[in-house]
Amino acid sequence: IAMYQAKRQKLSTRTFEYWMGHAVAQQLHIAKRLALAIANHSFYLHFQPQVDMRSGQLIGAEALCRWWDDELGDVSPGQFIAIAEERGMIVPLGNCVIDKACQQLAQWQRQGLQLQGPLAINIAADQFEDSDLVATLLASCRTHGVSPHALSIEITESGIMAHPDDAIAITEILKGHGMGLSIDDFGTGYSSLAYLKRFAADRIKIDISFVRDMLTSDNDRIIVATIIAMAKTLGLETIAEGIETKAQSEALLAMGCTQAQGYYYGRPLSAEQFAKHWLT
Ligand code: C2E
Ligand code: MG
Ligand code: MG
Ligand code: MG
Repeated sequence: IAMYQAKRQKLSTRTFEYWMGHAVAQQLHIAKRLALAIANHSFYLHFQPQVDMRSGQLIGAEALCRWWDDELGDVSPGQFIAIAEERGMIVPLGNCVIDKACQQLAQWQRQGLQLQGPLAINIAADQFEDSDLVATLLASCRTHGVSPHALSIEITESGIMAHPDDAIAITEILKGHGMGLSIDDFGTGYSSLAYLKRFAADRIKIDISFVRDMLTSDNDRIIVATIIAMAKTLGLETIAEGIETKAQSEALLAMGCTQAQGYYYGRPLSAEQFAKHWLT
């Protein structure tokens, strides 16, 4: 039996190493293609509507980065954003997103189309360590003739906690220029109320995981209710992300959530489709 176990262990170790090697090689390949995509700016953005929970009216949108690679095909942001963060490529990738977002806003302006409310851009933790972030955002606005008021920033709760003092200082400056600020994926990090109070956010985004389970899990429903109550006390808007059903929407509205985003209201769309369905 011992011999059999030893043999089995050796075998599974070998299989494990094979798969690990495979996964690492695959990740390296994606990273190489990603570096190329960053150099060529070959990303595009999708836009998802954000609406007022009561009226259903558009109050803004979130820009979500998309990448289609000739060799790899469609790669999800969940995968390539993580690789960019791990391999020190998130700053140039993020700069590319900032530029494309401003470019799109300018194009809609030229077409006489108006986005009601700001366009939210996701900013990763390491971008807050980039001393040029503020200058990059403002320069991009200037280059494309877009007001900083037309932008808002989404930073995850864990992103804030990675560099809290930088995040507080930089967002204060951005806020001074009129940009909005949301705390993304709220409830999944471990931020303290003390930091939240110092942080110049105007909106909290309730993480999709709580919204998904709030109708079946007492815990999740209590967490959502607590986040909404806390935001209200701090004078912040709450936006729930990942709303997929009418029932979720009604429950959130009853709890006092003010804003909504999710497939129930509208999926992320290409610039053309978004303009067709949501812009006037
Ligand atoms: P996020 O910022 O929390 O964005 C919300 C994600 O939820 C998006 O996924 C969106 O497509 C998805 N979503 C929206 N409504 C629903 C719904 O009703 N049901 C479900 N199941 N999903 C919904 P996506 O586009 O795949 O992006 C995933 C994450 O990748 C984003 O999460 C964000 O953290 C990151 N990401 C995307 N674009 C960028 C970017 O330009 N920069 C950075 N730093 N991160 C980005
Ligand atoms: Mg976001
Ligand atoms: Mg989120
Ligand atoms: Mg997320």
